[in-house]
Amino acid sequence: MNQLKKSLFVLFIILYAAACNADFIKVTLLGTGSPRPSIDRYGPSVLVEVGGKHLLFDSGRGVVQRLKQLEVSLSDIHHVFLTHLHSDHISALDDVWLTGWIYQRPSPLNVYGPKGTKSYVENLKQAYAFDVQLRNQYSGLDLNAGVMTTSEIEPGVIYSENGIRVTAFLVNHKPVDPAYGYRIDFGKRSVVISGDTTYSQSLVDHTLGVDLLVHEIMSVKSKILEKNPRLQKIQHYHTSPEQLAKVLEKTKPRAAVMTHVIVIGNSEDDVLQQVTDHYAGDVYMGHDLMSIELGNNIKVIPY
Ligand SMILES: [Zn+2]
Ligand SMILES: [Zn+2]
Repeated sequence: MNQLKKSLFVLFIILYAAACNADFIKVTLLGTGSPRPSIDRYGPSVLVEVGGKHLLFDSGRGVVQRLKQLEVSLSDIHHVFLTHLHSDHISALDDVWLTGWIYQRPSPLNVYGPKGTKSYVENLKQAYAFDVQLRNQYSGLDLNAGVMTTSEIEPGVIYSENGIRVTAFLVNHKPVDPAYGYRIDFGKRSVVISGDTTYSQSLVDHTLGVDLLVHEIMSVKSKILEKNPRLQKIQHYHTSPEQLAKVLEKTKPRAAVMTHVIVIGNSEDDVLQQVTDHYAGDVYMGHDLMSIELGNNIKVIPY
């Protein structure tokens, strides 16, 4: 009898561990750069693999090449969430759409984004109408597989499927307004992606206690910043290391990773140091193709 109890207990522990691990999200930084061209940091884009889905957040320069490096098929990308309409975040949406179509995405590409997304997508369709028609007539590519739908979103839950929930919330990237951050929930696991923002109370409210915060960063050496009004304006709608430390101190995610890295005059090590001087938790400088696995434990995997 004792043996039976022991076996049942072991079985319970195994099943419990399996159930906990079922709540699993993998986040990969496809591009950690900004508008400034860089061979190491491609345009902003984050891949979230969750519940059998591949969700793409922003579609910056080089996203298709990064997906290829991961051996993720474009035909598996069905949902793209745009944080805002600055060109660095959307400039490769056409590549995801059309190259995915050439590789026969079996159903439409659904694009979610702020007001203005519809116009952007409709204009893309117009710009590529010649190519789409030609590929359909000459190569026989199915027009139905090349459909791109658009949802202009409001704050709140904007996607819900298979236990996955994506919530959009406003951030402060003024004068770019609206600009969104996204929170992804799946079982016990959660991720917040900041998009572009300066310190934002709404982001703090949505990030409290999450597993992972993917947050933008901008750091300019003070001597350079003082003399450059244009950089001051740009810094004004991005997040300094001190501001990021304040966000982290208030929200205490299990881990945080910096992306959309703009560093001028300082080194990236300086930036990390500036954050960790004010915050004792786990925080990392993000790099292209770095993955973060969120399960019972958090695993950060450099490429
Ligand atoms: Zn940006
Ligand atoms: Zn921006």
